Amino acid sequence: MLEDLHDEYLFPIFENLAELPFPASSTSSNPDSTQSDPDPTATAEWCVVAGIDHVVQLADGSTSLTIGDETRDQAQVILNPDGESSDANADADARRWISELHTLRPEDELTILLLGARKETLDCGKIRVHVADLRCVKVLRIGLFYLFELTDELRRYTDMCYGCGEEDGRPMHWCPGCKMALFHNRKCQKNVDHLHRDNCRLLRDVDLQTLLREFPDDYQHFQAPGLNVLETWSEDETEDEDEDEDEDDDKDEDEDDDEDKDQDEDEDEEEDEDEDEDEDKDEDDDEDEDEDKDEDEDDEEDEDEDEDEDEDEEKQHNYA
Ligand SMILES: [Zn+2]
Ligand SMILES: [Zn+2]
Repeated sequence: MLEDLHDEYLFPIFENLAELPFPASSTSSNPDSTQSDPDPTATAEWCVVAGIDHVVQLADGSTSLTIGDETRDQAQVILNPDGESSDANADADARRWISELHTLRPEDELTILLLGARKETLDCGKIRVHVADLRCVKVLRIGLFYLFELTDELRRYTDMCYGCGEEDGRPMHWCPGCKMALFHNRKCQKNVDHLHRDNCRLLRDVDLQTLLREFPDDYQHFQAPGLNVLETWSEDETEDEDEDEDEDDDKDEDEDDDEDKDQDEDEDEEEDEDEDEDEDKDEDDDEDEDEDKDEDEDDEEDEDEDEDEDEDEEKQHNYA
């Protein structure tokens, strides 16, 4: 079962955040803050999930973000890559992705994730949100409410095929890309390919997966902090593990496809599938031309290499 983004303990709104300071254990950069925190939730891990409304460069070189939580309350976050971090590489990385935030178009919807954030109530009554470290900040290229809708939907489909909506006891398999959606078979997956394709890319984000699956166990820093830029994923160490898992998944899928062939019903489905594929091709040609055509051809050619091919696709998207 995926975590619920509406869970106010794991994903609190600004008002429910603990006040500064950070507990000593989570602020390596500030050894002076050893005072005990009266807040019983002080050592708990949580993640603020909010939309980014405005990005402003301040005179001192830092970046101010106006962010809005689920209740549409607003708060401010200051990102300063020249701050107190002891890690020069992390600082350089932060400078890069924070400067990228300024180049995004206003219509790009963005969601910010802030691990273990604390609040500071300013004299004017506004809330400023602080994180211990820029590694606790992550920006997803998706709107806040779309992210809520998407995760709500995935939770509803926990025991159901994401493609056909049936829960009929037939074996199901995780989508080889995101492993967040269950499908009976390739045909069911293809039924919602046009809907799931973009979501699938987003859901592969290693940190989003951890938040939704395993959070809050010992999750003090994002593994890939900053802006979720897809091409950086190929450099991620977790990639190899994922690929191994995928191979297993795909083998399972193949085995089950064989089982399905024994059933009359599924033989009919397979015939239908050929027709559907032709239809898909026509549609895709109209919509997206070369890109989708390549993808369909890839799907047909080799099912076992889904992830590799999807990654190539991602790169194309980003460089485009
Ligand atoms: Zn299905
Ligand atoms: Zn997927």
